[in-house]
Amino acid sequence: MDFQKLSAFLEKSGLPAFRMKQVRDAVYRGLAASWDEVTVLPAPLREKLSGEFHLHSVEQLEAQVSAKGDAVKFLFGLKDGRKIETVLLNLLPEKWSLCVSTQVGCPVRCPFCATGKKGLKRNLSPDEITDQFLAAGAWLRKERGQKIGNVIFMGMGEPFYNYDAVGEAIKVMTDPDRIGLGQRHISVSTAGHVPGIRRFAKDFPQCNLAISLHASEDALRNELVPLNRQYPLSQLAKALNDYIFSTRRRVFVEYVLMDGVNNSRSQAAKLNSWLRSVAAPKYFTINLIPYNRTGCPYRTPAKDRIKVFAGLMETYGFEVTVRKSLGDDIAGACGQLAGK
Ligand code: SF4
Repeated sequence: MDFQKLSAFLEKSGLPAFRMKQVRDAVYRGLAASWDEVTVLPAPLREKLSGEFHLHSVEQLEAQVSAKGDAVKFLFGLKDGRKIETVLLNLLPEKWSLCVSTQVGCPVRCPFCATGKKGLKRNLSPDEITDQFLAAGAWLRKERGQKIGNVIFMGMGEPFYNYDAVGEAIKVMTDPDRIGLGQRHISVSTAGHVPGIRRFAKDFPQCNLAISLHASEDALRNELVPLNRQYPLSQLAKALNDYIFSTRRRVFVEYVLMDGVNNSRSQAAKLNSWLRSVAAPKYFTINLIPYNRTGCPYRTPAKDRIKVFAGLMETYGFEVTVRKSLGDDIAGACGQLAGK
């Protein structure tokens, strides 16, 4: 919502300033999904405002719930008719994380990702990012009586190609007078945008940084993550080393395991060497993500091969998790968001 416009409107209508605070509280804290739910305002005022202002800049077109009920994929419509997807994930009992999109499509075009196939349509505005939280939060409260605890910028798009809007959205999400999440509950995942990593270290040192790595040799990474041609592994290593040195924070390394592509023993050894060239193993958590079907010519490795790769990385001294694939039956898992 355009709060400046709302403020001017209230002033012009001769209404007291506290009405503005009531609306802000209802939107950000109360997660009102419609003006009817802003019951603190008198009904005639609500009616007047509903004709002038949309509460959210995104409109929920669909909410698909996975068979196990642990993932919900939202299809949101934007004012220009474009569509984005956002996923709620129930990773632990009563702990919900929201994976938000930052762009319509994505310019990076990783060949294993459904979003990348579309190319970039446009950046999202700060409101369009924040409102994914407000709309999904309203759904979660109504349907399950629960709250979103974490936000992951890992949906459609490369967040650091839209840095200003992402930064503004993080400020709204962490502002105690608005959404009020702690910075440690926010994670931003990049495909390796080096200038973005450097800005992020200065602007949001308490937020979490994740790197979608997927390969630790330039030739393969150029293919799997084409952004690597612009920011090769040597530059990425330097940026991550500086990030760790200045923030003293652990970095999350995302590694999509594709059978016969990046999951051999020698590739595990190369990953170990590259990470150690950046910093000691204690500064990394490696999230192994078995490839999710996206209609691309890659295969998910068998369970025992995933185990071997994970075991090797543990032997090298790293903390390793194998990501549970929530929501692949609703095409809401990593790499599957296509805005359909
Ligand atoms: S994996 Fe991430 S960076 Fe790569 S195309 Fe998909 S959304 Fe973009």
